Order: sequence, then structure tokens, then C-alpha cells
Amino acid sequence: MELFNVYPVTPINIVKALGSTVWDEQGNEYLDLYGGHAVISIGHTHPHYVKSLTDQLNKIGFYSNSVLIPIQQQLAKQLGEVSGRQDYTLFLCNSGAEANENALKLASFHTGRKKIIAFNKSFHGRTSLAVAATDNPNIVAPVNETDNVVFLPFNDEEALEKAFNEYGEEIAAVIIEGIQGVGGIREASIPFLKMIRSLCDQYGSVFIADSVQCGYGRTGNFYSHDYAGVDADIYSMAKGMGNGFPIGGISISPKFKASFGLLGTTFGGNHLACAAAISVLDIIKQDNLMENASKVGQYLIDELKKFDKVLEVRGRGLMIGIELPAELAHVKKDLLLKNRIFTGEAKPNVIRLLPALNITNEIADQFLTAFDERLKA
Ligand code: PMP
Repeated sequence: MELFNVYPVTPINIVKALGSTVWDEQGNEYLDLYGGHAVISIGHTHPHYVKSLTDQLNKIGFYSNSVLIPIQQQLAKQLGEVSGRQDYTLFLCNSGAEANENALKLASFHTGRKKIIAFNKSFHGRTSLAVAATDNPNIVAPVNETDNVVFLPFNDEEALEKAFNEYGEEIAAVIIEGIQGVGGIREASIPFLKMIRSLCDQYGSVFIADSVQCGYGRTGNFYSHDYAGVDADIYSMAKGMGNGFPIGGISISPKFKASFGLLGTTFGGNHLACAAAISVLDIIKQDNLMENASKVGQYLIDELKKFDKVLEVRGRGLMIGIELPAELAHVKKDLLLKNRIFTGEAKPNVIRLLPALNITNEIADQFLTAFDERLKA
């Protein structure tokens, strides 16, 4: 049987990993600043993570959500502590798309409305509502096409206000990434976020912060825009949550309690997934990883801004986009082939750095030296 490859495949077989270092089958060493697309949050094969998963699997890996699963409660409690949102309710699922799907569904159910506001260049996942709210026609099937989703320009306060003035009473939800990831590392402005909050309050719409890529401590805040002093009604999360073990979730404001009945899943919140997520939170807390992400991230951003050839450096903490002139679009590939450094890309000429939250300044310097070498080559 032929295998379907989800992405164009780089012919490197990674067989071993530790922290931000990975090795291929020939024993070649690489630096991983991509973290498998923002998934590796506490580094590969972290001993505490490995032990937590192994211990849990030796006890029980899965049992149905129809019985008591105290480890889910433990995860919810710890997520409340680390995220600073104790009064929210956690629904557990398996991926970012599933998290957003449920957030949008909950918003529609709660308001009885159908319209969703999303933004240009957004990415929310590949399931039906999530993909309908994603600004990429290439991944939308005819069945997902809907007039219920309206795309507005990102950070455009005027367009947002106009939309609410025209049909605010029909808007179930506004869904936004605090920092657009796939869309090129573009951060939502504080006034824009504040305006979403106040229009949602005014019209009874639900504010969904897609924190799948920009959340979970990556920016130095737990959710990317915590610094803005704006609370969303629902935060969706996945990626870094399980450090590679599939788990997602939505953290929901208490005001939606009456609508919780429509949420459900078979695998979501299984013992093993919860053990993974708890150990990630343990490490984030014990090792002050949000602070580290903020410090090392700022160092990288400041240093990257010094390169003449770099058009723009965007992002926050360890979610960084480096925009290069089109003729330097090959730099990302060269970093891998010549310097053995994995990075991501947003557009062909935007390099995305999404490393583990515990990278050090030394690792940052290693990247900066290699980057300098590539730009000079
Ligand atoms: N939201 C955002 C912001 C994402 O970046 C992604 C994945 N790239 C998703 C949702 C979908 O997550 P998943 O692939 O786990 O379904």
C-alpha cells in the first residue's frame, strides 16, 4: 500500500532525540528549532516526561470517559494554576482542529447563531468548521464551503466594527490566533483584541482565542496575549500541550456551562494523554519555562533585527518569524542541508522558529552564527 505524505518530505530519518538535538540513522546530529511545528515544548525525551508516560502506561493507558478518571481532574487543576485561569472549565480532546471545532460548535449552540468572524491568513485546522474558518481555499472541500464564515482583514478595527454594526446580532463567534502562525507570525494588536472583547460583550458573541500554536507558554505568557489584559471566552490548545503525545483541549469560561452537554469524545482525556500533559505543565512550572521563552526569545529577536538582510523580525517569545527578501528564500533549506538546523517556514521567504521552551542562549547563538554564515554565503 502506498503511503500518503501529509507534507513534502525531507529525506531525513530521525531516529533519536534529546532536548533540542536530534540524530538521523547515520548518526548525524541536528539542532531542532522547529519542534515538529511548535509541538515539542519541553524538549525531546525529557526524563520526567518519559517516566510519567512509562509509569502511566504500566498502570493503565486508556479507559472510557464513562468512568472516573482523576488524572483529568489533576490536569484541569494544574492547567488552571499555570495558566492563571482557575475558574475556567477544561474539555479535553485530541488535536487543535478538534479543539476549535468544539469551540465554534459550542459558541453556535450557546448563542443560537450561525455567523463566525475569522481573519485573513488564519489557520484553525482541517475539520469542517475549523477549515471553514481557515483562510486557505486549497484545503476546503465543497461540503465545507459556507456563507456563515466571514473573513475580515487582520488587525483592522474599522472592518471589525463595520461587520458588527451590520450583523452583530447574527455573530456566534470571533475566532482569532493571538499570533497567526501559518499566516506568517503576525501578532494581533492590543487595541484590536480589546475591540473584539468589547464588541463580543456588546452583541453577546463568543470570543475564541485559538492558542493552538501561540499558546502554552510559547510567547512567555501562557496564552499569547495575556499581556494585553483581555480575556477570551474560550481558549483552544493542542500542539505543545502533550510534547508530541496527541492531546488538545478548550478552556471555557463558566458562562457556557449550560451548553457543555454537546461536547464529547472517545479518546480525549485518556490516562496516557493526561499524564503527558501534566508532566509538560510540571516542567513548565518547575523550570520557569515561560520566563525562559520570554528571555531567550527576546534575545533572538533583538539579535535577528541586527542583520541588514532581514526585512522584518516578527513574533514574541519563542514564536519568531524572520522575513527575508525573496532571493534569500533558500536560506531555510540551506540551514538544514549545510548547518543541520531544522526551522519552519510560513511563506517561502519567512523562516519560522518554534523551538522547545527550554532552549538556552547558547543554542540561540549557535543558530545566529549559522544564520550569519548562510546570509554571507
Ligand atoms: N490552530 C492553529 C493556530 C494551528 O497552527 C494548527 C496547526 N497548524 C491548528 C489549529 C490545527 O491543529 P491540529 O493539526 O492539531 O489539528
